[in-house]
Amino acid sequence: MKDSCCEIDDVACCDIKVSEDTAICKECGGKGKSVGEITLKSLVKEPVLEAIESLNGFYYCETPTCGVVYFNNEQQVYLHKEDLKIRVGIKETESPIPVCYCFGWTKERIFEQIKQPGNSTAVREISARVKAGECECEIKNPSGRCCLGNVNKTVKKGLELYGKNKRKE
Ligand SMILES: [Zn+2]
Repeated sequence: MKDSCCEIDDVACCDIKVSEDTAICKECGGKGKSVGEITLKSLVKEPVLEAIESLNGFYYCETPTCGVVYFNNEQQVYLHKEDLKIRVGIKETESPIPVCYCFGWTKERIFEQIKQPGNSTAVREISARVKAGECECEIKNPSGRCCLGNVNKTVKKGLELYGKNKRKE
């Protein structure tokens, strides 16, 4: 398997080094991926941060319906959506839903492009800026990882829902 956070071929992906450790979120039973100290420091509200003993060993819960964003089972710390400074796209149902945190792409913007003119430029544009070294996923994306995988999924979903040019694919 390709060692890439975004799982898309022919696309530049930022090479953030994050541990692939996982742990189980006690609130939903879902798997969470390890998240670095730098990500927590920039996205968690200050008073909440101050109350945490150590920022090591935290995981990011990816379950859309679970209110927990970061958890640490050893310290018994569970940080919820309201403990963060930003909206976590995968856990939001109301617009605007952020998909790319570095360059401001939302699900709505991608879907609009798919409705008219028919396809989204998101993956291409984001990938160009990633290549230029402009992304800051580690401190802007709640997962601490590259957003391209999620952006690609959103584009595919949009094409399924609104794509007019499906025959060409
Ligand atoms: Zn969870």
